[in-house]
Amino acid sequence: MNRENGLVPTPANVEAALGFPPLRVIQVDSVESLKAALAQSDDHPVVPWGGGAGQLSGMQCSGAPIVIDLRPFAGVIEHDIEDMTISVKPGTRLIDLQAHLSEHNQYLPVDPAYPVVTTIGGMVAAAASGYLTSGYGTVRDLLIGLEAIDTSGNLIHGGGRVVKNVTGYDLPKLLTGSNGQLAILTKLTFRVMPKPDARASVVATGKAAGMIAWMIDLRPPMDPVSAVVVCRPNEAVDYGTITFHGAAEAVTASAFSAASTTRTDISAQAYEGEYLPDPIEGSLVLRVQALPSLMSPIVDKLRDTVLVSGGTITVLPLTGRIGFSWSEVPDDSAEVIRKVVESSIALGASWFIDEAPIELRTDAWCGPRSSDSVLKLNAGVRGAFDRDARLNAGRFGPRS
Ligand SMILES: Cc1cc2nc3c(=O)[nH]c(=O)nc-3n(C[C@H](O)[C@H](O)[C@H](O)COP(=O)(O)OP(=O)(O)OC[C@H]3O[C@@H](n4cnc5c(N)ncnc54)[C@H](O)[C@@H]3O)c2cc1C
Repeated sequence: MNRENGLVPTPANVEAALGFPPLRVIQVDSVESLKAALAQSDDHPVVPWGGGAGQLSGMQCSGAPIVIDLRPFAGVIEHDIEDMTISVKPGTRLIDLQAHLSEHNQYLPVDPAYPVVTTIGGMVAAAASGYLTSGYGTVRDLLIGLEAIDTSGNLIHGGGRVVKNVTGYDLPKLLTGSNGQLAILTKLTFRVMPKPDARASVVATGKAAGMIAWMIDLRPPMDPVSAVVVCRPNEAVDYGTITFHGAAEAVTASAFSAASTTRTDISAQAYEGEYLPDPIEGSLVLRVQALPSLMSPIVDKLRDTVLVSGGTITVLPLTGRIGFSWSEVPDDSAEVIRKVVESSIALGASWFIDEAPIELRTDAWCGPRSSDSVLKLNAGVRGAFDRDARLNAGRFGPRS
């Protein structure tokens, strides 16, 4: 993907992402124009489109879609600086939200890949998160309210500007990660954080298994905001980083103390500042979610396959996430995906294709099959929001 521009919804980009060129691309900049776009879309599939960073995920659409381009629907609606909450329109880019908050010494501690193009609506719809999840939780923990429009044009409200404001079902949590299948998000409200006074990091080298075990042992008593181990092709040793946010003296003490607890086969050094690896990005990105005890066995099993084909392995030991990413799709990609899937199944982990060319996003994308009762429940929830299943039709089913 073009790292600077993301995936704008040109006919070629829409076809590469969804399998069909669009019937129409409609730009919207308000609730009214969004309602008008939905009213024009008859019974065609409708695909909400933000920065496009997550559109090379999921299967092909069920037919030529109406693409709703939400990028012009951007801007801050309300920022309560004292109470540290902010409401934004869905097309607001994450980078613009962070720049606005930064003027007030605040920030939203979410760091998905492609921050320059990612929109807040797309980030919430995909429940996208990054390295800071270890310390701050996921976007689901930070979103406290939302508004959305269903395919019939009804406005849905959930939560609000106070952190505990839920009577009835918790709609913000349900719609986070709904992949644009239930409703189109039109307003998102978050609790934000003061920027940390200081940041300190530990940078380590050694073998992945030793660093994973070391990082898992750190908590408690230390509370890093991120812990990451990276294995790269053609490098003799793996490397890892641990980051602390907080008051200056405390984070420096934590980093030095963490560096001093390493085992003999790891070399570690504490630094002031934040050292985070590159985000997990590429032309092919696979994700595995596993219990902490399974992360080293999975890395051991897949290490040769992934590194020999030019891929990078990124492990988040405190959240159980492992990313496998290739900047160029390897020649034997189908075989690589098969090995990742089979190893995940054998070790009881779940798996998912975050990004791939459309010919690879077949059934292999779907991840482990849900039970029949869960499928029935999902269909019922979906039917309540989108009776004719037109939003992102076909992309995240039938097994999801
Ligand atoms: C299921 C899934 C999980 C992902 N998880 C991660 C992750 O954990 N970390 C990470 O770095 N990246 C992740 N990605 C990639 C992620 O999508 C991007 O990092 C980014 O958040 C997408 O933002 P975007 O504005 O580019 O949205 P797009 O790529 O345009 O859209 C992403 C998805 O959200 C829907 N969507 C977009 N805007 C709206 C809206 N306003 N209302 C309703 N639906 C909307 C789209 O139809 C699409 O299904 C994931 C992608 C998917 C599909």
